[in-house]
Amino acid sequence: MKTERLFYNDVYLKEFQGKVLSCQGQEGTFRIVLDQTAFYPEGGGQPADKGFLDGKKVIDVVESGDEIIHILHEPIEPGRLVTGQIDWEHRFRLMQQHSGEHIVSGLIHHAFGYDNVGFHMGSEFITIDLNGIITEEQLSQIEADANEYIWTNQKVKIFYASEEEKEALPYRSKIEIQGAVRLVEYPGADLCACCGTHVTYTGEIGLIKLVSVRHFREGVRIEMLCGKDAFRYLCDHYEQNSRIAVELSLKPKETYEAVRRLEGEILDLKNTINTMKREGFAATAHRCQGKGNVLLFADHMDSNDLRRQADAVMDTCSGICAVFSGNDQAGYKYAVGERDGNVRDLVKEMNGGLQGRGGGKPFFAQGTLAAPRKDIIDFFERRGFVCIDK
Ligand SMILES: [Zn+2]
Repeated sequence: MKTERLFYNDVYLKEFQGKVLSCQGQEGTFRIVLDQTAFYPEGGGQPADKGFLDGKKVIDVVESGDEIIHILHEPIEPGRLVTGQIDWEHRFRLMQQHSGEHIVSGLIHHAFGYDNVGFHMGSEFITIDLNGIITEEQLSQIEADANEYIWTNQKVKIFYASEEEKEALPYRSKIEIQGAVRLVEYPGADLCACCGTHVTYTGEIGLIKLVSVRHFREGVRIEMLCGKDAFRYLCDHYEQNSRIAVELSLKPKETYEAVRRLEGEILDLKNTINTMKREGFAATAHRCQGKGNVLLFADHMDSNDLRRQADAVMDTCSGICAVFSGNDQAGYKYAVGERDGNVRDLVKEMNGGLQGRGGGKPFFAQGTLAAPRKDIIDFFERRGFVCIDK
């Protein structure tokens, strides 16, 4: 049984009537074949249509030989005349994307001779895989050319070429097709074998945005958007940039330079903080000069700062240096070390006695402990440590 493909006669048909020829149950779904349909089945890189048959949701549409199979959760009895409704929002989006993809692929083919070797209409972007390299600058030029082209509102030509006719036509095709071939021509931009649904005038595509290009296999993969999807994408980005501009009290066109300036300022501040920290570590090390085994408490130091502080003091105190940062509520971080010494036993004892955990090398250990400050001082004073700034 052959299904009449109404979308080839009128690509804008949103509602139609068809007679149910068969309905077969399969794994909890029903496969319904009509004598005619406006539902486009998945094919040629274009996803299937969505919509309803007599108000029942069509969950997928596939092609099997001459038949188009509508997959539903509910059965419809054979012989019945049903009304089909296409989800037009979904279909028109796909038409915009698919038509735009042909034009971009055709322009690239003209400009660089590369072929589109992979095409996917994903939920977020359309991707085109090319068998050659193009740069971001070249991509921008193609984007500009593609938009200029669609605004000239060319009428698409769709026709079938016989075996003999197609020999003379320089059309793009991913596969070798036997017999007659359906060709979609965007005059001056592209001629390509295709079974998909296209807009009739290129102005309907509205907008083409080439989002990215990156190396992929032997060539590149381009991400792109057309029509409403491109518009939404650009609106989202505009919104993001506007919010940044408001946050920085700038005009939207000034954000990039301002962010670059802020990055520079942050780098300068980090350098200043680092210098001040280094001076602080050196000053503390100076105060510990020749004091032997020392215990220190420091405010707001992270593990890295603790390591740097201990390192500086180990050079001056001529003994073991133990540095702590934290408070009785949250606990303490520590760094304990001795230049060319061995603090393993001390750290083990400390972890055991003061609910600590951590370790490291024989001459240096870092970790955390959960004891109060006075217990830490007791522990070290009992071992002859000098508590600096008690
Ligand atoms: Zn196509």
